[in-house]
Amino acid sequence: MTDYREDQVTQTLADYLAKREAARADRVRAFLDSLTDRERILVKDLAVLGYTQGLKRPRDEGCPKDSQVVSLVVEAGAAIPASPTARERGLIHDAAVMGYVQGLMRTPEDGGLEESAVVHLVVDACFAFPDLYPAVALLERCPRFPEGCPNLRAVPPNPPEHDGGVRCGCADDEEV
Ligand SMILES: [Zn+2]
Repeated sequence: MTDYREDQVTQTLADYLAKREAARADRVRAFLDSLTDRERILVKDLAVLGYTQGLKRPRDEGCPKDSQVVSLVVEAGAAIPASPTARERGLIHDAAVMGYVQGLMRTPEDGGLEESAVVHLVVDACFAFPDLYPAVALLERCPRFPEGCPNLRAVPPNPPEHDGGVRCGCADDEEV
């Protein structure tokens, strides 16, 4: 009797987890499909190279700053476009840094993932931290930013930080 119930619970939980896993995979796939070919290749290269570099990092050295991670990944051979677009700059940051963090969180023994598995792992993890990985969050919410954003807002210059530009206002209403 008890065994039967435990089986039921285990099966229900397994079904639930499988469904949730499939939904997460769909979300990652939809995001990757929304990118241009060039962006998709960039995300893949940086996520995989970032992951590999993170795995190799001596654990007692801690995690370097984001800008250092990007430099490390580029030095390791990631091909960065000569004049990246704003979208590409954001994706370079998110993929390289989250790839690195995911590598750091694993040991070389359990690190032997297929490249596509690494890309999925990295994008899925970016979804969980939209404040730290804003480009993935933005492009999921507003896939055609900036040209196709229906709520484009001007950002005044703030030297020396930046020269101003535009931002997506699609989430502004949600934040109120
Ligand atoms: Zn928008």
